[in-house]
Amino acid sequence: MTQSSTAVDQQYYIQLEEKHGAHNYHPLPVVLERGKGAQVWDTDGKPYYDFLSGYSAVNQGHCHPALVEAMQEQASTLTLTSRAFHSNLLGVYEAYITKYFGFDKVLPMNTGVEAVETAIKLARKWAYKVKKVLPGQARVVVCDANFHGRTMGVISFSTDPSAKNEFGPFLEGFDVVPYNNLPALEKAFQSEHVAAFLFEPIQGEAGVVVPDEGYYKGIRELCNRYNVLMVADEIQTGLCRTGKLLAVDHEDVKPDILILGKALSGGMMPVSAVLANDEIMLTIQPGEHGSTYGGNPLACKVAMAALHVLEQEKMADNAARLGEHFRKGLNALQSPFIETVRGKGLLNAIVIKHSDANAAWKLCMEMMKNGLLAKPTHGDKIRFAPPLIINEKQMDEAIEIINKSLQVLNN
Ligand SMILES: *Cc1c(COP(=O)(O)O)cnc(C)c1O
Repeated sequence: MTQSSTAVDQQYYIQLEEKHGAHNYHPLPVVLERGKGAQVWDTDGKPYYDFLSGYSAVNQGHCHPALVEAMQEQASTLTLTSRAFHSNLLGVYEAYITKYFGFDKVLPMNTGVEAVETAIKLARKWAYKVKKVLPGQARVVVCDANFHGRTMGVISFSTDPSAKNEFGPFLEGFDVVPYNNLPALEKAFQSEHVAAFLFEPIQGEAGVVVPDEGYYKGIRELCNRYNVLMVADEIQTGLCRTGKLLAVDHEDVKPDILILGKALSGGMMPVSAVLANDEIMLTIQPGEHGSTYGGNPLACKVAMAALHVLEQEKMADNAARLGEHFRKGLNALQSPFIETVRGKGLLNAIVIKHSDANAAWKLCMEMMKNGLLAKPTHGDKIRFAPPLIINEKQMDEAIEIINKSLQVLNN
């Protein structure tokens, strides 16, 4: 497509952000204006495969017609009531999502990190009310290299210096254990003050770190034995991303508290949720927790549509099948610059091996040039997580783009 003479240069938009926006991100220099399915287009009309999917928020594909319809219809009907009143959609949504995931109750929030905060509050409340932990003593065990969001509460137990540096003082009551290490977890559970273990079934931000087979089952057993709540943050791994509805489904394990976000709205708006059974959820009373936008009618409508299409279009199966295909394709490239290909379903990453510390960024720039968007994480890792509706032909094209782009690392 040729650029029209009136088209504004992408640099214009980039400089606007630079000048007027906070500098809390370091994006690739591409300005997007449209999306459909697995693809996005920049302001020059150039298409790209989106291999980030809004950090797995857009599992259903960009502007999925069923989600657009739900959004448009509800936007012109009723968008917000606050929880001071009932709505004709909240209860319907709550019934739908609790049945979908097999829990007694749901607590609706907006962003992912709010749902994590909610889960921590719930776990602490449960510890005092049910487990009878001494007042003010409840502890939550978390993992090294975790990512659960950006609030003060959540960064208090981050182990990433750039997430924490010069933001203190921090919240207390957290113990950090190594990821994928059951003996260390059991040791941390020796304290009778432990309320919960909060973990990511696959560590996404850390670079798609997949734990050993048996980790989820082991966590479940330890949590049962020590009367500790198993809290799974499936904000990134859930909703079919890894080839099953939830990542913990790979070991048929059910957490006590399930945290969802991101693809719960398929990229339409922030919608998150915390699911638990009555023994836990009913420890929170009116006035003890809430959110103005949490459970709003627009979110309820969009979330139901988002969950419905995941099931209807069998996106878990597609993620499992094409994930396999993708990893096979990347391994077949036998690139000397790819040290590791890892992942589950369509949550994958490669680790780059190169003398240039900037190689991952360089490769992402080259892939961008060639029509595929992905972002390095932690220097040498690149996450590949396309929308789950991507088909085999598109995937083969994407693999070819990656192959071609790898040549840039030759010199
Ligand atoms: C993205 C993410 C969060 C935070 O979600 P936000 O909507 O950005 O607040 C929390 N946990 C995990 C595992 C995530 O991937």
